[in-house]
Amino acid sequence: MTIRTRFAPSPTGYLHLGHAFSALTAYGFARDMDGEFILRIEDIDHTRCRPAFEQAIYEDLNWLGVTWETPNLRQSDHLSDYQAALDQLRDLGVLYADSRTRKGQAEAALSAPQGEDTAGAAPAAPAWRLSLEAARRHLGARYDDLAFTDLVSGAQPARPEVNGDVILGRKDIGVAYHLAVVIDDARQNISHVVRGSDLFDATHTQVLLQALLDLPTPQYLHHALLLDGEGRRLAKRKGSKSLRDYRAEGLTAADINEIIAQTPRSVA
Ligand code: GLU
Repeated sequence: MTIRTRFAPSPTGYLHLGHAFSALTAYGFARDMDGEFILRIEDIDHTRCRPAFEQAIYEDLNWLGVTWETPNLRQSDHLSDYQAALDQLRDLGVLYADSRTRKGQAEAALSAPQGEDTAGAAPAAPAWRLSLEAARRHLGARYDDLAFTDLVSGAQPARPEVNGDVILGRKDIGVAYHLAVVIDDARQNISHVVRGSDLFDATHTQVLLQALLDLPTPQYLHHALLLDGEGRRLAKRKGSKSLRDYRAEGLTAADINEIIAQTPRSVA
């Protein structure tokens, strides 16, 4: 098996130290295992993504010395594939329409990773939700056996209930994060999903989607998160210092590695 990891940022802001840590962890894992590393631009949310941020991702990663297989995938170039997957799930009878638009939007925002909320920006939208009850019926005994391996915490039963009936189809941007990421991890033959532990719970839903769509389940490595001086995780929306700010101050990639090594991190 070829080891293949990915870094999958959304161009909704400039990358900060937490992103650098995540990219370097995924990149280092692939390099240590003689594997491949890819970059995926997760830009399905056209209301929040900007070309300038995408450009900055390339520049920041180059500056860090991270290299990736090309051409890299941009999710906005594959929207019809996500729609096809949505149709497939609808045909299986595991989706239902939710026309309670406010609630639908609020929950879509909550299920988006790293503050990719779209509440406020999105037009009124009926949403398509995954029915856990229908999924359980469809998979039968397999549902209770759903599991994944996390290289940090070991074998894990998948418990999609922690996220409930998540929204997979959004009227505003077509598809929700969980579905796009599952399609692309399979399409790009990702053997190890290396990402922050803030996305650990997302894995429960994603493993279920893999089973429903007959896609393989990769292994996972959810790494600890870097924390700021007050013990909160770094985040774009909280104004964490961007990598380009460090660069403008004359720091080098080696300095960033040093800062990361000295930054406190969460236990998981
Ligand atoms: N695009 C997501 C983010 O920027 C990451 C998704 C993932 O790694 O699964 O938070």
